[in-house]
Amino acid sequence: MPRVHPVGAPGGEETKADTDVECWYAQFLKRSGALPVLVDHLPDGTCVPWTAAELRARVDEIGAVALPLPLDYPEERLRDIAAKAGAAQIVESVDALLSSPKPPPRAPPPAKRSRDYERNPEPYREPLERVLDWGEINAQDGHDEVERTVQAARCMDCGTPFCQTHTGCPVNNLIPEFNSLVYQDQWRQALDRLHQTNNFPEFTGRVCPAPCEGACVAGLVDSPVTIKNMEYSIVERGFAEGWIVPRVPEVRTGFSVAVVGSGPAGLAAADVLNQAGHKVTVYEREDRPGGLLMYGIPNMKLDKDSVARRIDLLSEEGIEFVCNAEIGVNVDVDVLRANNDAVVLATGATVPRDLPVPGREGKGIHFAMEFLTANQKRLLMTKEGTLESTWDRDTFVTAEGLDVVVIGGGDTGTDCIGTSMRHRCKSVLNFELMAMPPDARSPDNPWPEWPKVFGVDYGHAEVAAVFGKDPREYGVITTEFVLDDDERVKAVRTSDAKLGPGGVELIPGSEREWPADLVILAMGFVSPELTVPRQLGLDTDQRDNIRAEYGDYRSSLEGVFAAGDCRRGQSLVVWAINEGRGAALKCDEYLMTRSNAQVLSSM
Ligand SMILES: Cc1cc2nc3c(=O)[nH]c(=O)nc-3n(C[C@H](O)[C@H](O)[C@H](O)COP(=O)(O)OP(=O)(O)OC[C@H]3O[C@@H](n4cnc5c(N)ncnc54)[C@H](O)[C@@H]3O)c2cc1C
Ligand code: SF4
Repeated sequence: MPRVHPVGAPGGEETKADTDVECWYAQFLKRSGALPVLVDHLPDGTCVPWTAAELRARVDEIGAVALPLPLDYPEERLRDIAAKAGAAQIVESVDALLSSPKPPPRAPPPAKRSRDYERNPEPYREPLERVLDWGEINAQDGHDEVERTVQAARCMDCGTPFCQTHTGCPVNNLIPEFNSLVYQDQWRQALDRLHQTNNFPEFTGRVCPAPCEGACVAGLVDSPVTIKNMEYSIVERGFAEGWIVPRVPEVRTGFSVAVVGSGPAGLAAADVLNQAGHKVTVYEREDRPGGLLMYGIPNMKLDKDSVARRIDLLSEEGIEFVCNAEIGVNVDVDVLRANNDAVVLATGATVPRDLPVPGREGKGIHFAMEFLTANQKRLLMTKEGTLESTWDRDTFVTAEGLDVVVIGGGDTGTDCIGTSMRHRCKSVLNFELMAMPPDARSPDNPWPEWPKVFGVDYGHAEVAAVFGKDPREYGVITTEFVLDDDERVKAVRTSDAKLGPGGVELIPGSEREWPADLVILAMGFVSPELTVPRQLGLDTDQRDNIRAEYGDYRSSLEGVFAAGDCRRGQSLVVWAINEGRGAALKCDEYLMTRSNAQVLSSM
């Protein structure tokens, strides 16, 4: 994209330094109350013969805000943006701006960029349409680029971008920077900024709950910027334009690292270590890499082609993936250690929380992952027409024609609801132990914390559209599974519950019975599996997670690191990426220190 050479740094001395367009128009935009004027023709490549003071004076005189645009904006798009920005006039160059007539007054003048435009998230497909297939819920024909530019323009360039502090984005994405670049139509640079902090924006852009938006400063007075959508648009444009290509490291260090587990933590660690020049092999016990990205989060939220697309890239960059390799079971963990200079454990937290109430042993009661993983394997088999994904007909759990009860809210519960809907269940209910959250933040949940408020996720919207009612029942505790003569579940008994001083209290007389032929337990995960930690003799914490300090990632065994859910407990994709990156840096540091020590000792 062309760079302009404005004269003078914003608000400072006239330095004649090269500056991005952003620097100086941002100053003008902050003069709220002025009329916007779009300048579609900026001098490219050379300094222009006017000074910032002259320009500022002229802009003040005509009461305008100048929105300069790069040279190659097509006229139609320019006019569109002008209309959306409410521009009073379009001038063809900065010189023209200097000599342009005063535009007619407009009332009320825009106060701030963020408040001039409404938040307009990218649309999902209609619930009644999407529930008939396994395609992504994101509409393929989302916003056009003009609307994306407008949404980017809502970012206020606030003094302290809380969206990238500790209450916001866990990978510290450079959010105001990429918004600003999109606003200037510099998508490729925006992609570079995004990849600086996030190895896999195509995953977070789809599945991240976006704590950044909860911490967005615009959200204090208005609706937050559509940050997650922006991330998705930038990375998908990067793929569409062919900007994302394999980056094969030019230099290799001679060190080899084994990464155990190929979820987002393992993939991020592998990516960083490979780019640092180490030989990386990722071991995965499933038949495909991706961890919960592949076999947990369903297609509707994260299409498996986009997972495979990234894994293909990583393979082309030199990472080796070994599937059907369960460390500690069919691959000896000591051999693995002996054959590698370091090991990163990223095995996830896969032990599910159970519900030991009477009748739990009955047929038709399953953990969420038994339901979701088998479904995913069947879908992949259907798509590819092969049995490569080891789909097992006997263990496949269908919700077709059944009264389904999903116990537990959260992402996993919603995914079980969405999957049941696509199986054409007869009905679906979702029990949540906690009380219904408020519609707005409560006083003990202030901005910029994650807002604990009532929301409608995709699965809830689908149930409401098909059956006319949200599936959630709040403040409900399951007390018994009622079984028929064949030991199959036929109903769920519950009691209403509330939080008292001693914990959860049952409300007498509130017992109810709900018909159910399929019960799915989606109450979270208690810990990682302990096979590998036990075989290696690793220290674990009081929750059975592998003990390694956050930010340090070293386990109790030299050369063995731990990252992601197996270290921090069940969390989010974005946290797994954060930890995978961090563990890789510490692992690299460890290897390079060893390398230096070897050099020194040989001298
Ligand atoms: C149903 C569901 C939906 C979710 N939805 C969201 C969401 O929408 N947004 C979000 O941010 N987060 C979501 N999460 C959470 C998110 O998926 C996890 O926090 C994240 O995947 C953790 O990444 P990880 O790499 O630590 O572990 P995982 O993704 O669990 O990957 C661990 C991998 O290690 C492999 N493994 C384990 N032991 C061994 C061994 N001994 N040898 C070889 N391989 C082994 C496993 O097979 C697995 O592939 C969801 C979780 C679930 C269960
Ligand atoms: S990764 Fe998540 S928290 Fe970070 S910017 Fe993207 S949507 Fe926001």
